[in-house]
Amino acid sequence: MTRAEGVVPFYRLEFDPAALSGIEECLRSGWLTTGPKTKEFEARFAAALGVSPSGCVALNSCTAALHLALEAIGVRRGDAVIVPTMTFAATAEVVRYFDAVPIFADCEPDTLNVSIESLGRIARDFVEGRAVPGLGTGPRGVLRAIVPVHYGGQPCDLAGVTRVATEHGAAVVEDAAHAFPAGWIASDGSRRLIGSGTSRVTCFSFYANKTITTGEGGMAVAAEPELSDRIRVMSLHGMSRNAWNRYSEAGSWDYDLIAPGFKYNLTDVAAAIGLAQLARAEELRLARERITALYDEAFAGIDELETLPSRTGVLHAHHLYVLKLNLAALSIDRDRFLSELKERGILCSVHWRPLHMHRYYTETYGYRPEDFPVAAALWPRLISLPLFPSMSDAERERVVGAVRDVCARHRRPLAVSAGAPVPTR
Ligand SMILES: *Cc1c(COP(=O)(O)O)cnc(C)c1O
Repeated sequence: MTRAEGVVPFYRLEFDPAALSGIEECLRSGWLTTGPKTKEFEARFAAALGVSPSGCVALNSCTAALHLALEAIGVRRGDAVIVPTMTFAATAEVVRYFDAVPIFADCEPDTLNVSIESLGRIARDFVEGRAVPGLGTGPRGVLRAIVPVHYGGQPCDLAGVTRVATEHGAAVVEDAAHAFPAGWIASDGSRRLIGSGTSRVTCFSFYANKTITTGEGGMAVAAEPELSDRIRVMSLHGMSRNAWNRYSEAGSWDYDLIAPGFKYNLTDVAAAIGLAQLARAEELRLARERITALYDEAFAGIDELETLPSRTGVLHAHHLYVLKLNLAALSIDRDRFLSELKERGILCSVHWRPLHMHRYYTETYGYRPEDFPVAAALWPRLISLPLFPSMSDAERERVVGAVRDVCARHRRPLAVSAGAPVPTR
């Protein structure tokens, strides 16, 4: 590779003049915090999902949405919440905010979504007092919720998750940080989107590199008005009226504190960016879908690699493009594979080291890697390639070329090799 070609970043946001003019409107109006742009963003997001605008609460992160969702469904100290081990920190840390116990479940080997078999077994063992990883057989609280993740933007088996939750009286709260827009496509072509009443609360992320962004931001979409009302109030200090209601002409100065809430509201400046992004959400999804298809085609038949399958009937958000390295066919490990790609100017990531293999969870709950064998075996194999709508064909081809080159140069020589292995420089 030559440095002159520059670097293919993991993610690059395309400049959008519509976002800029939205921000300018905010600045000219003098209203920067939660106000009319946020209201409009909630309304348009609701329209995109086909739900009532009052069910959507814009927040400053998906983490905040997950926190408030668990608060609204009534998670209390000592309760248990099952989350996949194959997820980002936020999914489990919000459970700890309540001094409740996150219990992990393993993933499917192909999609990396939560395994319903593992989830069902852990829920049953927990409820019936048998040992579950990280908890032993000691006293236990109520199984309050299950929080599935739609890994990389591919819908998990939500029907399976809901079945397990219903069996044990637990709520489903979706971590849909990767999953806008995503869902299921019926045989007649109609779409059922994640967030359209698919669970009690669905939480989306608008973090900088997510499928649509506000820089930092998120959305809680609740299926019941009691839940969205509670989330809205708790997102702004537990005040019975928000600032827009208080300071607009129609508003009143008075408010009442109904609980010690949080400070999780989205700003109008962020919502202005979100409105521009939202208008292009399907166009951006299609661009990622195209790149994914071309990557899949380019990597098919390479023994050193496995691609992730798409289930039939799903609408995939294509947030991530993940490869599983076939380590038996390679002479280098994943970390070296990543540094080889970096040397070639390709910046990648890994999603994720399973939560039960992080120090905090290992030390606090005594997890061993083999407690979730599928996730533990997968994580040393995972790499996420650059995937973003503004990626040029040349950039995509550079990624493909670099991945192929690293595979070819670090092919594990077979016992009886057909030809001399390519020297590694
Ligand atoms: C990004 C992410 C989050 C957190 O989103 P924020 O908006 O940054 O709080 C939560 N869960 C998953 C699976 C994520 O990838």
